[in-house]
Amino acid sequence: MAEPHRVTRRAELIASLRSNVSPSKWSTWFSGVHIELTEQTLDVVAPSDFHSHWLQDHYRELIASLASDYLGTDVAVRYLIASPPLKEFEFPAIPVPPSSDRSPEAAVPDSSLERSSRYLDKYVFDNFVVGPSNRLALAAAMAVAEKPGQHYNPLFLYGGAGLGKTHLLYAIGHSALAIRPDTSIRCISSETFFNNFVDGIRRKRMDDFKHRYRTIDLLLLDDVQFFQGKEQVLEELFHTFNALHQYDKQIVLTCDRPPKDLGIEERLRSRFQWGLLADIGPPDVETRLAILRRYAGYAPKQIPDAVLDFIAQHITDNIRELEGALTKVTAFAALAQEPITLELAHEQLADLIPTPSGQPPTAAAIIAVVAASYGVSLTDMEGPSRREPLVTARQIAMYLCRTLTELSLPKIGKHLGGRDHSTVLHGVKKITRLIAADPQFAHRIADLSKKLGIT
Ligand code: ADP
Ligand code: MG
Repeated sequence: MAEPHRVTRRAELIASLRSNVSPSKWSTWFSGVHIELTEQTLDVVAPSDFHSHWLQDHYRELIASLASDYLGTDVAVRYLIASPPLKEFEFPAIPVPPSSDRSPEAAVPDSSLERSSRYLDKYVFDNFVVGPSNRLALAAAMAVAEKPGQHYNPLFLYGGAGLGKTHLLYAIGHSALAIRPDTSIRCISSETFFNNFVDGIRRKRMDDFKHRYRTIDLLLLDDVQFFQGKEQVLEELFHTFNALHQYDKQIVLTCDRPPKDLGIEERLRSRFQWGLLADIGPPDVETRLAILRRYAGYAPKQIPDAVLDFIAQHITDNIRELEGALTKVTAFAALAQEPITLELAHEQLADLIPTPSGQPPTAAAIIAVVAASYGVSLTDMEGPSRREPLVTARQIAMYLCRTLTELSLPKIGKHLGGRDHSTVLHGVKKITRLIAADPQFAHRIADLSKKLGIT
């Protein structure tokens, strides 16, 4: 194949050029220079006009003679200036975090531009809570952002869904730009890389594609597991990798698994392991709490510690879900104009948080789940109103408390706004009858039990 051959020739030419230049001159004059080969041309792409002239004054002959040695006498050498630095970020589609806006409606961004800037603000190192599960990954990411290409190249970040890989990837980009605004960065999902590649082939514009991906300082590529089984794009990634790595341009990759578990060719898998592998594990409970506290700080209303504890205890292995849970609770409270309480958290998160099997649900959890299912508020469950579906919801809660917990009739009554034991008994009997008579109703009760972790 012509392509790998050209890559080798290019590598040899660069090695030879390097051996003819002193190390200090090389790092001053050649480190920012990119050399591209096509069939008929050798392009020397310098970062500035000044660089280009200096190279031509001092190395024109050397470069010309190497070009004819390695590529033949009819190759033309062109001196070009790199286009202005790239700062391309693609914004991931994820739920909007709790924000400092007044109401939940206002927290939903109304334009994609606004959404972009929100993500820009959010995915930075300052917003990343560190704990034992992500300390190495964060340290490596910060080192790479500070000196791209010099520490760990590539940096390969891997871990399960929702653990902060994309967050760190973007943070590297933002921080590298803040430190050196002229850094040219491409920060994209593997899917976009793939789409650009396919597009390049379809339009016969592969040179554009190559130029786009091989003349940058920092390639941040998210979710490389996407490439598995896509042989052609893997081949292209291989060459992109080589082209960047050769000039000490930084590559950062994220993946949902370590390289050894990736179904890709060995030559690429081994390159992924050349630098540093850093895994991100599920956060421990202190880290989860710290993350929740950070988000709670943005919420318009104070969120009781008991609610944060409850969420941190129950949502253990996905930070996106952790945030989602908090958003759900705060948004519901704001919409329903109810205070944020533990009961409300139980009610809103019943789907996400099944009671561990073997343990009976609490009365509060039962009441919350029933209230949510019937669309009534917890205050009304305890209140005096006798309208439907409130009465039925209340009686179902009585029935479930009676059958799923050890609570006495008076205790159940107390949980439901201080009703007496005969009211509770009446409710339990009525629901028992309905279950026996109406299969659809029985099904609904079974569903509620399932939500409470009873199977
Ligand atoms: P992944 O790419 O690993 O699936 P993301 O980077 O998209 O996960 O993270 C999911 C959500 O959790 C994002 O909103 C991110 O900001 C947040 N997040 C992840 N890790 C942390 C952390 N250590 N501190 C604060 N927020 C975090
Ligand atoms: Mg991600």
